[in-house]
Amino acid sequence: MESRIIDGEAVAAEIKNELKGEVMALKKAEKAVCLAAVQAGENPSSRVYIKNQKMTCEELGIDYMLHELSGQTTQDELIDYIEKLNNDKNVTGIILQMPLPEAINPKAVQWKIAPEKDVEGMHPANFGRLFYGQAIVSPCTAKAAVTLLKSTGVSLKGLEVVMVGHSEIVGKPVAIMLLDSLRESPTVTVCHIATKDLAFHTRRADVVIVAAGKPGLIRADMVKEGVILIDIGINRVPVLDEKGQPVLDEKGKPRKKTVGDADFDAIRPKASYITPVPGGVGPVTVAMLLKNTVEAAKASR
Ligand code: NAD
Repeated sequence: MESRIIDGEAVAAEIKNELKGEVMALKKAEKAVCLAAVQAGENPSSRVYIKNQKMTCEELGIDYMLHELSGQTTQDELIDYIEKLNNDKNVTGIILQMPLPEAINPKAVQWKIAPEKDVEGMHPANFGRLFYGQAIVSPCTAKAAVTLLKSTGVSLKGLEVVMVGHSEIVGKPVAIMLLDSLRESPTVTVCHIATKDLAFHTRRADVVIVAAGKPGLIRADMVKEGVILIDIGINRVPVLDEKGQPVLDEKGKPRKKTVGDADFDAIRPKASYITPVPGGVGPVTVAMLLKNTVEAAKASR
């Protein structure tokens, strides 16, 4: 079977294009669209995210403000800072950069972000809205995975969908999102680390969505012919040569590459649709953060 690769970059570009128009309309109506990013302490990986966030916001005409706090910031100080942004009428969205300094409990701070400014969709009030099919903003990666699945145009009504992973940020919200229709939802099974026979579930699935953080978890013999595979995993693994030895870079360190949780090359010939890693869920997740930012701004008074 000739599988079709779902192009995350193309889907993300389409979403961003639509958002550009919406941002212009908001600005015309003199409504603020401003994303405040809060970082406590220094972290090289979140530097990269921040650079990308800033660039993409600029591209769309969204104001982006970075608030850098010291690595010594306490949980109470960080919460005070968040409260200040909650009360700032010019700020329509807030994102808390992870990881936070070790002494801070991320959930304790995240839950202090006003639900109407919670562009990551992780506040309990926003989860509640999602549960009732009334979401304004919802978790970005979950929304990205469902958007890519729907971009195939395949009707999900009654299909067997197996979600591998049950985290709050991905697996659980994906399952809820897929059950949003009273009459046209798929049948959703959620598997996790304690699932007894993962292959039993994935082999009978029309759609497998995986977010486990385990490279090679989904093998070709675990999926049926014609499966739709959405791979959310992001893993850094060593590049191996034909003898299975690690390839070294110019500094003598093992060269690494990014892969998902599924064996892409082996599954591709069996799949009807498949997402690549990188270039699948990742770029759409960023687009969803911006979509949430625009939705939050639209809902603000
Ligand atoms: P998590 O560690 O919170 O959850 C992992 C889930 O996988 C758990 O439900 C666990 O029970 C399940 N799991 C682990 N091993 C398993 C196994 N052997 N069999 C069955 N289930 C197993 O992780 P997360 O935050 O949900 O992230 C999962 C993956 O998705 C990671 O690779 C992460 O980097 C990636 N991710 C990607 C994006 C993106 O933008 N593309 C965003 C968030 C997370």
